[in-house]
Amino acid sequence: MSQETIVLGAGIVGVSVAWHLLKRGRKVLLIDRRAPGLETSYGNAGLIQREAVAPYAFPHDLKTLLRVIPNQSIDIRYRTLGMLSAASPLLKYYLNSFPNRYNKIVPEYASIIALSTQEHAPMIEAANCESLVQKNGWLELYRTESELAERWKQAQENRQYGVESERLNRAQLDEIQPGLSPDICGAVHWQNTWSVESPGDLVQSYARAFEEAGGEFLEAELKDFSKQGEHWKVNTSKGTHEAAEVVVALGPWAQKYLAPLDYQFPLFLKRGYHMHYKQPDTKASLNYWIMDAEKGYLLEPMRNGIRLTTGAELADLNAPPSYGQLEKAEKEGRKLFPFGERVEAEPWKGARPCLPDMKPIIGPAPKHKGLWLAFGHGHQGFTLGPATGRLLGEMMDGETPAIDMKPFRAERF
Ligand SMILES: Cc1cc2nc3c(=O)[nH]c(=O)nc-3n(C[C@H](O)[C@H](O)[C@H](O)COP(=O)(O)OP(=O)(O)OC[C@H]3O[C@@H](n4cnc5c(N)ncnc54)[C@H](O)[C@@H]3O)c2cc1C
Repeated sequence: MSQETIVLGAGIVGVSVAWHLLKRGRKVLLIDRRAPGLETSYGNAGLIQREAVAPYAFPHDLKTLLRVIPNQSIDIRYRTLGMLSAASPLLKYYLNSFPNRYNKIVPEYASIIALSTQEHAPMIEAANCESLVQKNGWLELYRTESELAERWKQAQENRQYGVESERLNRAQLDEIQPGLSPDICGAVHWQNTWSVESPGDLVQSYARAFEEAGGEFLEAELKDFSKQGEHWKVNTSKGTHEAAEVVVALGPWAQKYLAPLDYQFPLFLKRGYHMHYKQPDTKASLNYWIMDAEKGYLLEPMRNGIRLTTGAELADLNAPPSYGQLEKAEKEGRKLFPFGERVEAEPWKGARPCLPDMKPIIGPAPKHKGLWLAFGHGHQGFTLGPATGRLLGEMMDGETPAIDMKPFRAERF
């Protein structure tokens, strides 16, 4: 039977949830204040990370901490106010990163990552956007043999979770990606990860497929939502809309709209920046997504130029931008692969919505019937949107989900 469902937020997560619910026979209204895929899901590195079975842990080793504390590194920076306002979730994140807890989190995270490319595939096909996607993996570059050997050890351990990889020495690397700095000694080639040359366009293609199949999209600012009897009332800048069920897929903004309903989820943000650059003047072309692993930034051959994406900045959502991290990465990036001038006047800024145990919340809201949650996908939301859509659809229709969903329940907080 057709049901009225409203999905709040049209990033990769909300669009994927809406797509799945529509396919299941529901009448679905998807709401966002902007066109689909223009926030975090626009500015990311575009990797559908089948290899990311081990989520990013809080660094514990003294060497990393000593490097990060002066606040000059490329991979992690912090703003004092942001650290203070997120002190409690950050402490929990730190504690969850110790081996006794982290080793339990990895197989849970791996179970959802295993669905990542597999669940993007039917959406790519339905949206007819195969031309945006490359399936030849990406390269994690190393400057020191010992670091490469350590990473290769982890890569081999991750084979148990279906991750395919190859270790490349410098000569092998040159064969597939010429033009790199002589400082690079080799790489791990993550082979079954996919890359997308315009992540925003992929989300917009999925949203178009949703609309063409009969789903409705409303571009309107959400004000608030509340339960009135059996129904949910959603107030927006374009009127009030009612539905039997509501899904919150508001990414970094989710907690703000859940607080009035008495939810206090420990969402914190790892902000990131990107900039596009012109192709190099030389003949060299960037064939792969590459990560300068010991420095902590990525270069991606995107549709709008070579995109550089930065690591994490621990800061409040609305704190003014600080471009030092990007500028330093740009300087290193030019030495790694000599790209051209900047394309845009201002860098893009976005925020990874993170939870202290590194896993998203996917499932029913504990205190309200008919309210469903899908947010907190951290570093891998672009990877996990479609898997989240499938799993939430199965839960909402009372079916047994493809994987155990206990590790992702809201009740754990
Ligand atoms: C630099 C960087 C690189 C990354 N690289 C990768 C990567 O390679 N692979 C990967 O898997 N992940 C990556 N990520 C993470 C990924 O981008 C996010 O996890 C993902 O985009 C989150 O999707 P979302 O749908 O939850 O949130 P969003 O895309 O932010 O969507 C939330 C939506 O809610 C809407 N919204 C908010 N408030 C309102 C309101 N009041 N009314 C109406 N609408 C509202 C917003 O407009 C927005 O469209 C990266 C992130 C960053 C910052």
